[in-house]
Amino acid sequence: MIDSIYRCEICGDESQNPQKWIVIQCNSTQLTVFKWTKEAAEAPGARHYCGEAHAQVYISRWLEALCG
Ligand SMILES: [Zn+2]
Repeated sequence: MIDSIYRCEICGDESQNPQKWIVIQCNSTQLTVFKWTKEAAEAPGARHYCGEAHAQVYISRWLEALCG
């Protein structure tokens, strides 16, 4: 069994076993935050963040893009 390596989109941190990371799935009208599960992390288009702070960075950017 080969473990995937996940990479935080904000800081570039990498982990093979990201227990407390956060997954975000979104499109232009909806953003969904997931606690880390393999299923959520491996879904097409899923984005990966090393923690709440970096997930929030992305959420802020997404909201600004939507409202701007
Ligand atoms: Zn990070």
